[in-house]
Amino acid sequence: MGNDENTYGRCHILSNWTDWDYSIHCDKAQIERQGRAFTYPFTITVHKKKKTATCSSTSDMPYYTTTLSSCNCHDFQERKLPCKHIYRLAAELGVIEIINRHGHRNYNKEREKLAHIKASDDIHNEPDQLKRQKSAMSSKCTPTEIDHINQTGIFKGSGKNPYTTTLNSCTCRDYFVRRLPCKHMYRLAMELGLFEGDFKTNINDIPKSQPTSNFTISDAIKVIDTLNFDEQSLLFNILYTMKYRNHSEYAAVYKNNPPLKKLLEIHMVEVSNDTTTLLNSYSRNELNKKIIQLDENIEFKKNMKLDNLIQWIMDTIPEKIPNICNDKLTVIICDDYYKLKHKMYLYLKDLPGIDPAIYTNFMDE
Ligand SMILES: [Zn+2]
Ligand SMILES: [Zn+2]
Repeated sequence: MGNDENTYGRCHILSNWTDWDYSIHCDKAQIERQGRAFTYPFTITVHKKKKTATCSSTSDMPYYTTTLSSCNCHDFQERKLPCKHIYRLAAELGVIEIINRHGHRNYNKEREKLAHIKASDDIHNEPDQLKRQKSAMSSKCTPTEIDHINQTGIFKGSGKNPYTTTLNSCTCRDYFVRRLPCKHMYRLAMELGLFEGDFKTNINDIPKSQPTSNFTISDAIKVIDTLNFDEQSLLFNILYTMKYRNHSEYAAVYKNNPPLKKLLEIHMVEVSNDTTTLLNSYSRNELNKKIIQLDENIEFKKNMKLDNLIQWIMDTIPEKIPNICNDKLTVIICDDYYKLKHKMYLYLKDLPGIDPAIYTNFMDE
């Protein structure tokens, strides 16, 4: 693979990487990870001097710590071979460059194919979309929850976090990459009676009742009272943002703040990957600046409306999103606390000194 002697798999070696024998990078499973280093939607903070990184996680760990020779993610722990985080760190540090497997032409072909479907008068009859409708009808695609009023659904994902699906978005990887209806969106539309489909349901996937937890607001308050003022303020801001600003499950938070570490440690919040919330947490000027920092030659209109700019980023440079948003991550409230979030908000609101205006530097402003 590769046309010059410094290329192994999709790794073009730029400076000596002594932690690994170069031949391992040619392995098929490794080449997949080299690809995912830039296409998988995780966020990364690189510590250049220490040559380490902190990567967002969708597992039960708050985040992963990555070096050029190790990572504490499941993939690395299981295989002891470079994971997507390690390849990404190596690329960020300029040790390697990840090249396109098929060269530029096929990469563009993929883009053209998507553009063709998007331009079609009959998107749902395009072969790639018909495939997804077929998968949507399978019993494997049974939703765990359908909200008929808000027209949303929850589907089991491949990771720990389930997918949240609406009629025009989904948190799954397929939708992240293609920005076209995925199988979950088709299934949701079928369940709501908006799209024809003879779907099969796996009865075991429908929860009999909500899992009951004995965790009450007084338990939550006991925990809140152990937090310091900054931690309480951050928690209040997260709840405030979810309630009044985003109206969503997610809140975007700057990564580097000690109160966040604490809230993650006590499992009050957990890191999730919600690209839309993340991108929406920046102003247009901030996004313009960040895009130019990544590539000063990139051509785009600097006076686009924020919504259009975000859509442009998602359509044109989705692989750059982790770099653009590298100083923030999104969090959700953990299960035990989730149903108590309104009561927690009311309790925090009445604590002396708590004010959504003063701690916005932790949040998305
Ligand atoms: Zn890893
Ligand atoms: Zn989906």
